Amino acid sequence: MIFSKRKKVKFQKKLREHCGIFGVTSNDFGFSVAKLLYKGLIALQHRGQESAGISILKTSGKIYTYKKNGLVSKVLKNKVLTQFWGNVGIGHTRYATTGALKFKSSDCMQPFHFKNNEIEFSLAFNGTIPVYEDIKKNMVHMGRIFTTDTDTEVIAQLIASIAIGTDDWPEILKIASRFLDGSYSLVILTSNGDIYAIRDPKGFKPLCIGELKTEERNYYFVASESCGLDIVDAKFLRDVEPGEIVHLSHQKDIHSEMILKTVRTALCQFEFVYFARPDSIIDGVSVAEARLRMGENLAKNDPQLFDNEFRKDAIVVPIPDSGRSAAVGYAKEAALPYVEGLMKNRYVWRTFIMPGQQKRKSAVREKLNPIRSAIQGKNLILVEDSIVRGTTTKQIISLLKRQGGAKSVHVRISCPPVVNACYMGIDFPTTEELIAGKSKKEFGEENYIEEIRKIIGADTLRYQTMSNLKKSIGKNENQLCLACLT
Ligand code: SF4
Repeated sequence: MIFSKRKKVKFQKKLREHCGIFGVTSNDFGFSVAKLLYKGLIALQHRGQESAGISILKTSGKIYTYKKNGLVSKVLKNKVLTQFWGNVGIGHTRYATTGALKFKSSDCMQPFHFKNNEIEFSLAFNGTIPVYEDIKKNMVHMGRIFTTDTDTEVIAQLIASIAIGTDDWPEILKIASRFLDGSYSLVILTSNGDIYAIRDPKGFKPLCIGELKTEERNYYFVASESCGLDIVDAKFLRDVEPGEIVHLSHQKDIHSEMILKTVRTALCQFEFVYFARPDSIIDGVSVAEARLRMGENLAKNDPQLFDNEFRKDAIVVPIPDSGRSAAVGYAKEAALPYVEGLMKNRYVWRTFIMPGQQKRKSAVREKLNPIRSAIQGKNLILVEDSIVRGTTTKQIISLLKRQGGAKSVHVRISCPPVVNACYMGIDFPTTEELIAGKSKKEFGEENYIEEIRKIIGADTLRYQTMSNLKKSIGKNENQLCLACLT
């Protein structure tokens, strides 16, 4: 476990975030990037739905920031976008993870705009700094005054305090990164009109850069996922490397410096299993293809498929949306029909990233409805990306049987059991709340999968093996974070 020496985080007491970040710079001072920021954030909406915001450097040389709770389309309305005129800007969509009680707090919205007599900048942050309270304590001793209790402000204050000694941004960021032990992707807009994109040395969170050249002007972009580049027709240039600072500037083009190059990286495997959009490519791997392979590998090892009686009425049903690609892979490998057996109401947002168990529970029923004509009397291979608390899967199985008339439901999970809390900011509050973590403790290694099966009411339950997960993603244990699975 790569986190064994870290300070234990007090879950559910502090804010942690999992978000989407975006930045754009254009070489045309007469052009506003506001609408491009909107488009980029719309493409990254799946990474967070609690708040959205943008910072733009206006032609006057001042940074203006606008942020509010709500979806991108609600917050960044046309009348807002037309007020923000500038050729450089950054944006953020926020998901507050363990800070469920505080999630309406304006403190947590981003970008975080910092301004004092010495320096002005705005930053958008995706990640967690588990040691941020220690950094904050030291800075408070040094006389710095904080206005929020967020790790984002700690990063901003740290940058500002280093900037007292130097105005060289790469140097400031290099020094800051020595203190920032955690998982993060950052995008910073400076008052000089430059954008800096930074990825932590282990590369927990994705980040990539792109460019667009038109007859009128050129643009550089930075985005959490490549789907954010596609939506603005930008050419994907490359991922920001773990431990790299990329400087995007139209005066100096793209410059890069390494903070720290490590052999061992730790990209969160959940980006491939669940978080990222399937049309994104992360660190050279297509998310859709990784999910297809997850499905194929699940089918390759499935003893259920040798039962010819079962196969007669068997269909493969995904839990939409993130189970789809894996279900396609499973169906192809198993030579069984792929059937959309659950109707998803697309106007209800993702359950996993909705703070609060109660909200998640009622959202499942609002979100999914079985298609009886497709599944009645059938043996269902139900493909799901993961089981975290188990509540959602249990509800879905019950719906499929009770309302949909399914003969049997056999659950297949794209990733191995999630047995540990995430120390890097994803909302798995405690091992006790994870169905696999709790069951493993209670029933032991040998029996816990069977106990989970009983709890969720499935006829059979199989998880991906660790080696097949790595094979599906095409990366090894020295490139992925697998800490919550081991
Ligand atoms: S512990 Fe799990 S969820 Fe957290 S970063 Fe690692 S792989 Fe991702």
